[in-house]
Amino acid sequence: MKNRRISQIFVRHSSTDERRRCALCGKVVTNVRNHYYVHFPGKYACTKCPAVYTRSDTLLSHQRTKHGQYP
Ligand SMILES: [Zn+2]
Ligand SMILES: [Zn+2]
Repeated sequence: MKNRRISQIFVRHSSTDERRRCALCGKVVTNVRNHYYVHFPGKYACTKCPAVYTRSDTLLSHQRTKHGQYP
């Protein structure tokens, strides 16, 4: 299966609900990154931009430098 952008796969459930519906299986999820991993094992997708990495620490440093997130 070809990689797709995380924003293309997960659409907002409703305007008042932070949960998102997966376009691939129809499931409504709260943690899109965890669910992305279900369909694309070995891929770590940034939830803020289309970047996808194969390592979780690479994604973490990406989020720190690009988005200023400190989990
Ligand atoms: Zn799914
Ligand atoms: Zn990003």
